[in-house]
Parts: sequence; C-alpha cells; structure tokens
Amino acid sequence: MSARRHFIKTTSLLLASLAINPKEIFAQSSQTNQAIIQKPIVLSTWRFGLKANEIAWKKLQEESRAIDAVEAGVRVIESDPTERSVGYGGRPDRDGHVTLDACIMDEFANIGSVAFLEHIKNPVSVARAVMEKTPHVMLVGDGALEFAIDQGFTKENLLTEESEKEWKEWLKTADYQPKVNIENHDTIGMIALDMHGNLSGACTTSGMAFKMHGRVGDSPLIGAGLYVDNEVGAATATGHGEEVIRVVGSHLVVELMRQGKSPEDACKEAIELIHKKLKLRNKNIDNTQIGFIALNKNGEYGAFALQKGFNYAVFNQQDENILIEVESLF
Ligand code: ASP
Repeated sequence: MSARRHFIKTTSLLLASLAINPKEIFAQSSQTNQAIIQKPIVLSTWRFGLKANEIAWKKLQEESRAIDAVEAGVRVIESDPTERSVGYGGRPDRDGHVTLDACIMDEFANIGSVAFLEHIKNPVSVARAVMEKTPHVMLVGDGALEFAIDQGFTKENLLTEESEKEWKEWLKTADYQPKVNIENHDTIGMIALDMHGNLSGACTTSGMAFKMHGRVGDSPLIGAGLYVDNEVGAATATGHGEEVIRVVGSHLVVELMRQGKSPEDACKEAIELIHKKLKLRNKNIDNTQIGFIALNKNGEYGAFALQKGFNYAVFNQQDENILIEVESLF
C-alpha cells in the first residue's frame, strides 16, 4: 500500500470510529487551517525497522521525546549480531575492521555524529554524547573512540565469527561489487514525531561491506543521511552513500517538503535528481540503489527509491507496525 493510500485508509478509519462525516472534518480543518496531525508516529528503513519501531513506539507511548525514541529504536539493530549491516556483527571493511558511522538530530537542530568508529557497539549513543557533551558536532576514528571510552562506553570486538568467515571468503577474490538490495549494505534510518509534536531522527550503519579502510558514507553526515527541521519534517536515506552525499539528499527532501511537496513527492524528486547526476557521469545504475523515507510535521509520511526492493516500517496511531513496499523510478 502506498503511504498516501495508507494515510487515507487510516484517516477514514479514524473518522469512522468517531462517526463524523469526513467532509465536515475537512471543512472545519480548512476553516481553522489546521490539518489532522497523526502523532506519535515512527518510521524506519528496511524490514529490520519493524523490530526497531517496537522499542521506539513504546518510548513514544510513554510520552518520551522523539530523540529518545529514535536512539532506543536503532540501538536494538546496532546490538543485534544477526543484523550484518549495522553495529555489532556488521560486515568489516576490506582489511577486516568493523568501522561504524552514525548520527542523530533533534527538534532544536542539535546534532551529533561519529564516523569511522571502531570497537563500540552503539555508535548512535556516542553520536548523542558528541551532541550533548562536546562543543563539536562530529568526531571520527581514534578521536571518537577515545571520547567514547572516556564517556564510559565499553571497547569490544565487533567482528563476529560469521562476519569474519564471510570476509575471508570475500578475500579469495577481493572483488568489490555493491549490488542493489543485496544485504551487503543497509542502513537503519529512523524518524519520529512524538506526542508533543516534535521531530527527531537517527541513522546508523557499518557502511558498505568490504569498503576501503577509512571510507565514510552518507549515514553520519547531517544533511546527507539524515535531516530534521522541526517546522517542516524529517528525512533519512539508505543505499549508495556516495550518490546521496552528491545531492545532500535528506536535506533536499526536507527543503522540498518546505516548498509544499508531500513526503513521497519530495523523496521522488530527490531520487530523480540523483538519477540525473548518475546519467551525467554515464554511470550504469543497475547495481545502484538509493531509498529515502520522509515524515512531515502533520505525521504524513512517504518514501521513494531508485530501484525496486526497498521497503520501510511504520508504527502508527492505529497500533499497527507495518512494512511498506516502496515505489521506484525503475
Ligand atoms: N548508506 C550507507 C552507506 O553508504 C549504506 C546503506 O544504506 O546501504 O554507507
């Protein structure tokens, strides 16, 4: 079901339960210029978003801030060794190091980020500590690790037996071929609107599997992998980070919503621009995937992808946690 259809469905369900004529409601809301706001609500990328949403939803129900909900939500995926594209158990770079990227942003435009961070299971919480406890917005590599240890995070080995085995197998050919929707790279990006009507987001990944040592993608870059403007909406990205960075994707989606585009249309326009830039450089798009999800201040949401196969999870006011298949340019 498209996000728009879903919104229409949920809105009609709400109206049915109130036994109110929908025309009346829309007439009233246009007179007072107030939209029906769906809150709280949380959405996150890919199927593992369903698991993350459960925890975030619980927080939102307790009237927690969206920032606490998104941090708690994505931590679940970071800590799970069976999820091989985020946090602990994430696939290593081509030299066998698990290096993690994450960022977080709240309703006051507070931002925090870490990149190329090793040995810490929950980089999103280190990003939050950067945001709250330093005068800076981003720490990388050894500096980020030292800071994390200083803050009481535990240094541990993140390379699980499974990921090590897979890396050793890859070393036999050492052929780096990122493939569309194949699980060698998938980020969790989560955006939420809380009971107080405030937005926040978080984004975390181990990046592309077997990437060059030191490679950083879009996920820890505020504006590229994640952006939140509490007056407008929030967006986050997954897929080939290099292409998302090129158009500062998530910021673009939010700005398009500011201009009046629906979340889905804003995501679609950002994907079209990425496609234009790929064509400009004569790039073959067969193995390239990019997906955006977006949420506006009214709790309306949507997504769009370059290729088929992208999905995202939404936990909404009807107490449903559902997976939505995303429409794509190809
Ligand atoms: N965007 C991530 C990166 O480029 C990977 C992904 O979402 O698939 O590191």
